[in-house]
Amino acid sequence: MTVSTQKNDTNLKEQDNSLNEFQETLKEAASVLNYPSQVFEFLSKPMRFLEVSIPITMDNGQTKIFQGYRAQHNDAPGPTKGGIRFHPDVTPEEVKALAGWMSLKCGITDLPYGGAKGGIICDPREMSLNELEKLSRGYVRAVSQIVGPTKDIPAPDMYTNSQIMAWMLDEYDHIREFDSPGFITGKPIALGGSKGRETATSKGVLYTLQMVSELKNMPLKDMRVIIQGFGNVGSYLANYLYELGAKVIGIGDLLGGVYDENGLDIPNLIDSRDSFGIVSNRFNQAITNQELLEKECDVLIPAAISGVINKQNAHKINCSIVIEAANGPTTKEALNILDERDILVVPDILANSGGVIVSYFEWCQNNQGYYWKEEEVDSRLKEKITDSFKNVYNTSKRYNVNMKIAAYIEGIQRLAEASRLRGWLKY
Ligand code: GLU
Repeated sequence: MTVSTQKNDTNLKEQDNSLNEFQETLKEAASVLNYPSQVFEFLSKPMRFLEVSIPITMDNGQTKIFQGYRAQHNDAPGPTKGGIRFHPDVTPEEVKALAGWMSLKCGITDLPYGGAKGGIICDPREMSLNELEKLSRGYVRAVSQIVGPTKDIPAPDMYTNSQIMAWMLDEYDHIREFDSPGFITGKPIALGGSKGRETATSKGVLYTLQMVSELKNMPLKDMRVIIQGFGNVGSYLANYLYELGAKVIGIGDLLGGVYDENGLDIPNLIDSRDSFGIVSNRFNQAITNQELLEKECDVLIPAAISGVINKQNAHKINCSIVIEAANGPTTKEALNILDERDILVVPDILANSGGVIVSYFEWCQNNQGYYWKEEEVDSRLKEKITDSFKNVYNTSKRYNVNMKIAAYIEGIQRLAEASRLRGWLKY
């Protein structure tokens, strides 16, 4: 087994260009549909964007001001929906792009939502629980006017979890003076969360991989898989694949990669990681995240940050299928290179939609006040993501475009139609 460390996962990515990437791909997909330019113009930016400053008294008694954002991309199909990330690299542009991707994601999976996303520039690894609680509550106070169960429904995203959702819910309930579990999803089960939400994104990725394995006639058994990212999504996914007899030959975390061509002992790695999913620092042989991405395998699953497959390494990616479990892990230039090399890329807005699908189920359960069994959540998730996969795949064949453009086409059609029916767009 070989491992190594590098300072930070952000070393892997080129400068963040998410908004540009979102807009360029949107333009390409809109042109396939022959929509008038106003459709692209309207969908290329969020309808609403709020920037907030959140003062927090830190444990050392000093006041620190945090910057936060909430972007609501398009609320024509219904209330907006999307996670809140706590990360040092959050930028307004990235939040806007992520909100746009959420709109497309909800369109592809036929959820009655538009997209949104929030973020706070902070490093939760360096904050105490007390400071995180204050920041979570401060964010809700700052954005409370534009969020709500029928307006905009937040959820977890990078470095946020069910505990943070619980604090946010509690703050919202205090402001509104009534209990409103449908305000936020990804909550703990004891506060109205859904069974199966915690594992939903990884299960969704697994179901898309099962679709690809049927399509390509590549059985999961003994399939060699590399997963870059060992947080919530990467670790559950690695474990499902391990249980199904696939060979997870590499995993990467924030600091480095662990690799074994005979297949890794995933349960052991899961037991040894810390709360940020870091495990590679327990080993002292050398492989970087970059080397991990270029190792030969059947399926490569980037499940961490955006931009890790870019024009620097796209020529060296050594697999036949990439499944984008993270948001935006492959840049547009890299995707063109992978296309030329005949590597199938299953796009993020389809592959990682399991999270928001089960968030939708959670919201339905909150609105009904009736809670479902885990098997029910699971089978509905499987049905929804499998149908969405088939639609996107058929669209890619119909227009002779890759699955990324096909996914955008599916998402844009839904947003454009909802906007047209409301009388916002005339075409
Ligand atoms: N943050 C997740 C995503 O990017 C989940 C969003 C949600 O559940 O609303 O899809």
